[in-house]
Amino acid sequence: MVIQLKRCFAFSIIVPLLLMGTVAYAETDSSVKLRTVVIDAGHGGNDPGTISPDKKLKESSINLDIALALGKKIDEAFPDVKVLYTRKKDVFIPLATRADIANRNHADLFISIHVNSVKNKSDVRGVETFVMGTDKSASNMEVCKRENSVILLEKDYSTTYQGFDPSNAESYILFNLMQNASFEQSIEMASLVQKQLKKGPITVNRGIKQAPILVLWKTTMPAILVEVGFLSNPSDRRILASKAERDKIADNIFKAFRAFKDGYDEDISFVDESETDIPEPQVEVAAAKPDGKAYRIQIMASPKNLSEGNSQFKGLKDVDKLRVNGLYKYTVGSYASREEASAALKTVKAKFPEAFIVYR
Ligand SMILES: [Zn+2]
Repeated sequence: MVIQLKRCFAFSIIVPLLLMGTVAYAETDSSVKLRTVVIDAGHGGNDPGTISPDKKLKESSINLDIALALGKKIDEAFPDVKVLYTRKKDVFIPLATRADIANRNHADLFISIHVNSVKNKSDVRGVETFVMGTDKSASNMEVCKRENSVILLEKDYSTTYQGFDPSNAESYILFNLMQNASFEQSIEMASLVQKQLKKGPITVNRGIKQAPILVLWKTTMPAILVEVGFLSNPSDRRILASKAERDKIADNIFKAFRAFKDGYDEDISFVDESETDIPEPQVEVAAAKPDGKAYRIQIMASPKNLSEGNSQFKGLKDVDKLRVNGLYKYTVGSYASREEASAALKTVKAKFPEAFIVYR
C-alpha cells in the first residue's frame, strides 16, 4: 500500500519515486479536510462597484445576493464546513480587511464574487475567473485596475498597501516578488467554476485569467475572483437582474465548490496496489530543465483517466497526464521558457480557451 500526498505538488512527484512501496507516509486525516470557506461579496456601502446604464442595478447588490445564496447552499450541504462572509449586508469593507478575515480564520478557500463591465463595448459578455498572477495583458488589467481601484475609497490606502497605486502600471512590479503556494489549487477551483458557470444562464466562457488582483494577493489560501457576467451587456444584464437566474449562478459556483472539496478532502489517499488503473505520477524525462520541470500548457483537468487520442483532446497529440488532487491534469508541450510556452499557448487556446501555462 502506497500512501500518496497529493496536495503538495512537489510531493506528488517526488514522494512516490523515493518511497514507492517501501515507506508509509502518515498524516492525520483531519488536517486535510476543507473546513472553512470565506465568501466575499465584492464592493458595498459607498462603493457600488459597476452599475447598469439605467443606474437601476448595482454590482454590490448582485454580488451580495449570489454570495449569500452560495453560502446557504454550502451550509445546507456541508454542515461541517464553516461558511464565513466578508460582508452580509450593504457595507464598505476595505480589500485588506476582506483578505484578513480569510487569513485570520485559516480559511481553506476564498471565493470573491464580482460583476464585470467594459466601457463602450456592449457586445462583450460572459463569465471569467481570476487567480492571482502577474499576467498583465491589456484586457486583464482593465478588470484588475477596476477591482483594485476600490482601495482609493479607503482611508490610508497608501500605508495599508505599501504605496501601491492601482492605476499606475509600475506599482504592479511589487507583485513580481510574490510567491503563491496555492496557485495550483486556485487554478483548480477556477477551472471548476468556469466549467459549471458556462452551463448557463450565461454561457459565454471567457476562461481563466491571471492578474495582480489585490484581494487575491493578500490571501494565503487558494483564492479566486469570479466575474459572473457583464452589466454593460444587455443579455447578461437581463440575466443578472433576475433573482432566479442569480440563484442558478450561485448553484453553479456551489457545484464547483463541491467538486473542489471532493478533491481537497481526498488529498491524502490510500492507493491500493490492486488499483492498477491509477498510475503513479510521471516525471517528464524530456523536460527542458535539470530538475525535470518545464513550462507546459494545461488544456484540461478531469476526474476521468483519458487515453491518448481521446476525442476530448480535440486532435492534440502527445498529451501528458498527471493525477493531482483526485483529478487528472492534461498538458501538452514542454518548453524551457515561459515565452516559448506563451507563443504555443496562442494556438492551443483556439481549441481550449481555458488553457493556461503551468511550470512542472
Ligand atoms: Zn467588482
